Amino acid sequence: MSRILVAGGGGFIGSHLANQLRRRGNLVRVVDLAFNGHGLGRYCDEELLLDLRDPGNCLRATEGMDMVYDLAANMGGIGFITAVGAEVMRDNILINANMLEAARLSKVKRFLFSSSACVYPDFRQMSPNVSGLREEDAFPASPDTFYGWEKLATEKMCEAYKRDHDLDVRIVRYHNIYGPNCTYKGGREKSPAALCRKVCEAADPGMITIWGDGEQTRSYCYIDDAVAGTIMLMESAFSEPINIGSDRLVSINDMADLIIDSSGKKIAKRYDPTGPQGVRGRNADISLAKRVLGWVPKVSLEEGLLRTYDWIAEEIAEDRQEIVVVPNTARGTSQAGA
Ligand code: NAD
Repeated sequence: MSRILVAGGGGFIGSHLANQLRRRGNLVRVVDLAFNGHGLGRYCDEELLLDLRDPGNCLRATEGMDMVYDLAANMGGIGFITAVGAEVMRDNILINANMLEAARLSKVKRFLFSSSACVYPDFRQMSPNVSGLREEDAFPASPDTFYGWEKLATEKMCEAYKRDHDLDVRIVRYHNIYGPNCTYKGGREKSPAALCRKVCEAADPGMITIWGDGEQTRSYCYIDDAVAGTIMLMESAFSEPINIGSDRLVSINDMADLIIDSSGKKIAKRYDPTGPQGVRGRNADISLAKRVLGWVPKVSLEEGLLRTYDWIAEEIAEDRQEIVVVPNTARGTSQAGA
C-alpha cells in the first residue's frame, strides 16, 4: 500500500484515477479547489479543499505522501483554451511550480505530471490526414495555444527537478480523454462531451451546430484506458514524456454521426465557420506506450461514446427534474429576496 496524493482529484481524470488507486488498496488523498459531484461515490480516504496556486497549500497536500499524481489545472476544451491565455498560463505555472517544489520538500518518492497533446507544434498538424505525433515531434517547439506552452515548460521543469534534485518524475501526454463524469457544459467541455450534450438537447428530428466544417480530425481515448495507462506509467521506470491516447483518427463529423447513431434521433448538422477549431488534424502515435508499458487502449470509440452519451443524458434528465421539482414557495421566497 502506498500513500498517494491526486492533485486535481475533484476533476474528471483525477476522480477516476483516485477511485482506481483506492480500489487497488492504496491510501488516497485528493486535493482540489472544488468537488463537483462526480457520481463515483466515496473514492478517496482524505479530501482537501485547497488552492494549489499557494505554495503552503501544496506543502500541506504533499506532506506524508509517497507518490503524487499532479492533475490539477485550469483548463477546458478548445473554446476555453483558445480564448483564455494569461489566466491559464499563470494559474498552471503557479500550481505546477509549487507542486514540484512541495514534492521535493516533502520527500515524495515519485511525481507524475499530466501534460497534453497540446505541446505538439502547429506545423505538424496542418492537414486532416496527419500521421500520429511521436514524442520526439514536440521539438522544435511551436504549440498553438498558451496552454500548450505551459505544459511544455512544465515538462522541462520536471526534467530540471529530476536532474538537480533527483526527483523521480513521470510525464504523461494525454490526447483527448473522454467518458462519464467529464465536464459537459459551462464552456470548458471538450468536443465529445459537447457533441453528446448538443445531440441530447436537440429536438427529434432536430439540428446541431458544429464548429468549423467538421472535417478537422482528432483521436479520442476512453477514461478507463487513460487511467490504466497512467498507473502503468507511474509503476514503470520510464521517466521521459509519453503519449497516452488513441491512434484512431476521426473527423468531428464522423464523431458527431456516431453520437447521433447512439441517440437513435434524427439529427442534421449545420456549420459555424467562426467557431474555434484548433489545429486541423491531430493523431497520437502510441507505439512508445505499447513498447515500454505494454499498454493498449481497449474501449472502442463506439462503446465509449455510447457510455458517455448515456451518462450525459442522465445528467441532463436529472437537471430538468431538479428544475421541475423546485417548490413554488421556495421559488417565491428567493425571488422576493432578490
Ligand atoms: P478537470 O478540469 O476535470 O480537472 C482539473 C482539476 O484541477 C479540476 O477539478 C479543478 O478544480 C482543479 N484545479 C484547477 N485549479 C486548481 C487550483 N488552483 N488548486 C487546486 N485544484 C485546481 O480536467 P481533466 O480533464 O481531469 O484534466 C486533468 C489533467 O490532465 C490536467 O492537467 C489537464 O491539463 C490534463 N489533460 C487532460 C486532457 C483531457 O482530454 N481531459 C487532455 C490533455 C491533458
